[in-house]
Amino acid sequence: MIRAKKSLGQNFLIDSSILEKIINTTIIKNKIILEIGPGTGNLTSFILKNKPKKMFVIEKDNELASALETKFNNKITIINDDVLKIDETKLFKDKVIVFGNLPYNIATEILTKWIINLKNNFWFESLVLMFQKEVADRIIAEFNTSNYGRLSIISNWKLNIKKICDVKPSAFFPKPKVDSSLLFFHPKENFVKIKNPNNLEKITRVFFNQRRKMLKKPFNQIFNGDQRVLDKFKIDLTMRPQNINLDTYYKLACEYEKLGS
Ligand code: SAM
Repeated sequence: MIRAKKSLGQNFLIDSSILEKIINTTIIKNKIILEIGPGTGNLTSFILKNKPKKMFVIEKDNELASALETKFNNKITIINDDVLKIDETKLFKDKVIVFGNLPYNIATEILTKWIINLKNNFWFESLVLMFQKEVADRIIAEFNTSNYGRLSIISNWKLNIKKICDVKPSAFFPKPKVDSSLLFFHPKENFVKIKNPNNLEKITRVFFNQRRKMLKKPFNQIFNGDQRVLDKFKIDLTMRPQNINLDTYYKLACEYEKLGS
């Protein structure tokens, strides 16, 4: 009997209608699939029924990894490691579809790592990921709303994002305390080219440091009060950070890069 480990965010999906919904978000047949945190393999079994070309899983828990070995034998390739330490760009030659009912304590870290580490080519075709609802709401938030912030800006930079559904705690065992949401991510064909993504991270960190305050202080910190930048992007220093739209943040990151070069 496997005991769920809270420290590894283990809430296993047991509702087959939700498992069906997850695998029906995209075509699996003949595709290369990567599942993050397969746990006891509930979602893994549903994915395998749809006949992928090959399936990889990354599971940190040694006990679960060896139980998966017994359960699935040679049907899957198990990587018994921490997803945060893996460089997926080096792991796959062909594009993969990623599924994950993510461990909630590190879900945003996983997503941010993937976006920041993306080189010119996407190593994935799409991502089908479960987050805690409050986090999903921040990922898909529109500007001028209270949920809009760093996570929305970084997530939407290179990806189109669609919410599939919300999921109640009763779909999991053990039940989490919060609702969850399933999101679907698809690479954008066109996005603003920022040479060093750390600059986008830096600008959003400084701008959203005090999200209720006016922009004057963070703007001066980054752009030294440059009036030309204010005019170019129609920024008024009495605005709050959530009043600047996605595209302007990406362009501000490019502008910041130009200053340094
Ligand atoms: N996919 C399973 C399901 O839906 O029933 C389990 C999902 S559970 C929310 C999260 C899974 O991620 C657990 O199996 C946990 O052991 C694993 N995990 C936690 N931290 C991890 C990490 N850093 N790297 C890889 N797997 C991790």
